[in-house]
Amino acid sequence: MQKISKIAVLTSGGDAPGMNPCIRAVVRTAIYNGLHVAGVRQGYQGLIDNNMYDMDPRSVSNILNLGGTILKTARCLPFRTDEGMETAYKNLKANGIDGLVVIGGDGTFTGALRFSKKYPDISVIGVPGTIDNDLYGSTYTLGFDTATNTVIEAIDKIRDTADAHDRLFFIEVMGRDSGAIALRAGISCGAEAILLPERDTAIEHLIENLKAGQYNKKSSSIVIVAEGDKRGAYDLAEEVRKQVKFYDIKVTILGHLQRGGSPSAFDRILGSRLGFAAVNALIKGETQKMVGLEANHIKLTDLEEALTQHQFKLEDDLMEMSDILSI
Ligand code: ATP
Repeated sequence: MQKISKIAVLTSGGDAPGMNPCIRAVVRTAIYNGLHVAGVRQGYQGLIDNNMYDMDPRSVSNILNLGGTILKTARCLPFRTDEGMETAYKNLKANGIDGLVVIGGDGTFTGALRFSKKYPDISVIGVPGTIDNDLYGSTYTLGFDTATNTVIEAIDKIRDTADAHDRLFFIEVMGRDSGAIALRAGISCGAEAILLPERDTAIEHLIENLKAGQYNKKSSSIVIVAEGDKRGAYDLAEEVRKQVKFYDIKVTILGHLQRGGSPSAFDRILGSRLGFAAVNALIKGETQKMVGLEANHIKLTDLEEALTQHQFKLEDDLMEMSDILSI
C-alpha cells in the first residue's frame, strides 16, 4: 500500500456552493493526520502552471460560509492532452505530492481517472461538487441544495408579481442534462408545469394544463423549464402565446445567480463530511474512487462506475405528485 505524505486539493469545472467547506475539511483532516497539503489554484490549469501553495489550518479560516471556491476553478483544455497531463504529473512529483483530491463534476472525474491510469503512483479521490446532482454513487452532490434554495427564493418573488398581474411566467433554471433542480424547485414552489430534459412534454399537453388552471380560477401560473429542454423558455413562451390569450406571458432566465451564495447548512455539512472522508480514503490507500453519501452513510464508488452510470434517474413518483398537487 502506498503511504501518502503530501496531498493536493483542487476544484474544477463549474463552481458549486459547498466547495469551500470541503476544502477546509480536506486541509484540516490532512494536517490532523500529519500530512502536508497544497492548494492548487484554478483546477487542472494550476497543476500544469505549477500554481499551488502550501496550506495550513489558518489558510481555511472563515470560509465555511463563502460561496464559490477560494482555490478558484477553471475549464482547462490542455489537461485533455497527453502533454498537459505529463506536465501536471511532473509538477506534482516536483512538489512531493502523492495524493490528489479533486472536487468537481463528471468532466473533472473523467480527467482524474485518465490521469490516474497513466500515473498510478499518484492516488486520486474525487468529491462530487456540482449543482446538477447528476453523479451516480451519491444521493446528493455539493451545491445542489443551496442552488435549489436560491432558485426557490427567486421563484417565490416572481410568483408575487405573477399573481398581482395575472401572469404566466416561463422560468428557465440550470440543468443542461439534468432536471434535478427544476423538479425540486417546481415541487417547492407549486409550479403548474415542470419541463425536464429527461422527459418529453408535448406543447399541447402543456396548453391543456394551463387552460385547466384558468378554468380552476388560478390567477397566475409558473412553468419551470430546465436549461436542457430542447425548445428553451423563449421559444416555448412564443408557441404558447399563440394559443393562450388569458394570461400575459413573461420569461425569466435565472442564469448564474443560481451558482452563487452562502452554502446551506446541508451543503456545509455535506462538504465537511466528504472532504473528511476523501482524506481518510487516501490514508487507507484508496485510489480512483469517488466519496459520496448514500442513505446518510459515506460510500466509496469506483470513478469508472460513477462515470458510466452518471445519469440522473428521473423520479416519476415526484413528477406525478407535482402534477396532482398543482391542480
Ligand atoms: P460541471 O458538472 O459543473 O460542469 P465538470 O467537472 O463536469 O463540472 P467540465 O468542464 O466538464 O466540468 O470538466 C472540468 C475539467 O475536467 C475540464 O476543463 C478538463 O480540464 C477536465 N476534463 C474533462 N474531460 C476530460 C478528459 N476527457 N480528459 C482529461 N481531462 C478532462
